[in-house]
Amino acid sequence: MLSIALIAHDRKKDEMVNFVTAYEHVFEGHKLYATGTTGTRIMANTKLNIHRFMSGPLGGDQQIGALVAENEMDLIIFLRDPLMAQPHEPDIIALLRLCDVQGIPCATNIATAELLVRALDRGDFAWRELVHKYKPGIE
Ligand code: PGA
Repeated sequence: MLSIALIAHDRKKDEMVNFVTAYEHVFEGHKLYATGTTGTRIMANTKLNIHRFMSGPLGGDQQIGALVAENEMDLIIFLRDPLMAQPHEPDIIALLRLCDVQGIPCATNIATAELLVRALDRGDFAWRELVHKYKPGIE
């Protein structure tokens, strides 16, 4: 069971709901996290249970980033809106940066999201289980 974070900007939320609905059978085997509104929308449309953080503009990206920093998050699907300025742009950049620091797969559009979820379904991310097993504690 891996930890997956789901984030969608407002004009991408319908796309996220449709996507998660289509792959509900894959997502249901994992521990799911989301920013506030994204999580609420997905839970209203699926049977999935999602741990919801704050809404993105109120710090949700940073909360997810904190788990990435500790190498606790295994995969992120972050449907960003590239055509709309976001008040919390610095938080978004910080989250993407932390994914690159830890080498965490992060899809920022639906095409990449689809590839990652199919890879997840095939078991391609089994190496992440080993990361958790052998992760050193904080010194
Ligand atoms: P939300 O946050 O899911 O609470 O809308 C996502 C965002 O807009 O960053």
